[in-house]
Amino acid sequence: MPNEPYDVIVVGGGTAGVIAAVQAGRVGARTLLIEKNGLLGGTVTAAGVSYPGRFHGRGRQVVAGIGWELVTRCVAEAGAALPDCTTDTGSMGPQIRINVPLYAALCDEMCLDAGVALWLHTMPAAVGRADGLWRPSVCTKTGLCEVQGKTLIDCTGDANVVTLAGFEVVRPETVQPGTLSCRLSGYDANALDYDALDAAFAAEVAAGRLAHGDGGWNAEAPQVRRFLRTRGDNANHILGIRAEDSAGRTAMELAGRRALLRVYRWLRTQPGLENLRIDWVAPEAGVRETVVIAGETTITERDYIAGRVWDDSLCYAMYGIDMHTDDGAGVHGWPPEEGKVPTVPRGALLPVGSENLLVAGRCVSSDRVANSALRVEGSCLAMGQAAGAVAALAARNDIAVGAVPMADIRDLLTEHGAVVP
Ligand SMILES: Cc1cc2nc3c(=O)[nH]c(=O)nc-3n(C[C@H](O)[C@H](O)[C@H](O)COP(=O)(O)OP(=O)(O)OC[C@H]3O[C@@H](n4cnc5c(N)ncnc54)[C@H](O)[C@@H]3O)c2cc1C
Repeated sequence: MPNEPYDVIVVGGGTAGVIAAVQAGRVGARTLLIEKNGLLGGTVTAAGVSYPGRFHGRGRQVVAGIGWELVTRCVAEAGAALPDCTTDTGSMGPQIRINVPLYAALCDEMCLDAGVALWLHTMPAAVGRADGLWRPSVCTKTGLCEVQGKTLIDCTGDANVVTLAGFEVVRPETVQPGTLSCRLSGYDANALDYDALDAAFAAEVAAGRLAHGDGGWNAEAPQVRRFLRTRGDNANHILGIRAEDSAGRTAMELAGRRALLRVYRWLRTQPGLENLRIDWVAPEAGVRETVVIAGETTITERDYIAGRVWDDSLCYAMYGIDMHTDDGAGVHGWPPEEGKVPTVPRGALLPVGSENLLVAGRCVSSDRVANSALRVEGSCLAMGQAAGAVAALAARNDIAVGAVPMADIRDLLTEHGAVVP
């Protein structure tokens, strides 16, 4: 591992991080991507949330560029067809189903083709800065090692780098539940008596033998039908999580698998489910919310809903508010105002008081309501490309990420296929 400074170091090779690294690499920046897992793709691959949305809104494409290239290449390689994405639902759908193994392999290929150095199974242990360079100390399988970089992009989803570097993050008192996706088989989903199953499930919840989140999202009227109908895909809630650190994430993974075992054992006692099988479970539970950075700009619910455009807006974000809760119906949502497409300004990617440090992805500076929509994959892909472009330009010109002229960022992003507000 050579110790010559990188232009750009990206930590977190997930939804946003892969795209940030590819963008930086494609413009010739010496780029390193550090990822704690053995595969790239983050929540899309490791948590099995393999239906990125959204790329279109208000009848036009609003997220394109490298993220769109990856998704469409993945669909094409799988021999599948894209759905008609132009329908303006203003909110969640339609989403694009992608093949997880292909997506992960394409992430590798696109990074390597862009000249990005990949360090998998690696995590930062400390993040220092000296002589104008970031100097994260990273933990590899065989020990600690220091790397150096002009710019640093935190794409961990949890602002781990920003926290280690000593900048402020905001943690809400309660966060949205996590979800452990799985794939169930061994039953005929059209032949089940869902009313009877829901009644039996609610009785188990009332008796304290199951939790309402084990089989669905609804706390008021616990149901197991969504879990069975989707065959376990994005259908349960792991409550009371704190997933930004290793202890909290461990507790979440254990709670998710314990719940799956609990509901599996019970379901196999129910009519029509005697041969139920779990064919696959996501290697990691999916996390909707942990912390966000305290950024130079914070995107509020009002900004999001009204489609505010800032002077430094870098990309669009198109999705409805999507707030999962531990109580009530379990999810609340509403779309941006008629005709509006929300945007993400550069200031929301810059931790207050930092220098040459950016984030991209779920931990973008935003209030809870705005974040419940900004966190989706389309926006994370777009933020990733924007962050990669800003970091590469800053490194190339030896200037701060906040000082890169917007015209240069716009030109570079447009040249690489992105849509800039
Ligand atoms: C259950 C569920 C359903 C969802 N449904 C949808 C949907 O329908 N449509 C949609 O578009 N979006 C959906 N989302 C949202 C979306 O999947 C995520 O919010 C988004 O993928 C987050 O992208 P990210 O780049 O911020 O983080 P991630 O994709 O999670 O990437 C973070 C990466 O950083 C790595 N990492 C983390 N910490 C460290 C560290 N300390 N050191 C090194 N590496 C680290 C991780 O291993 C990971 O690879 C859903 C999310 C969940 C959980």
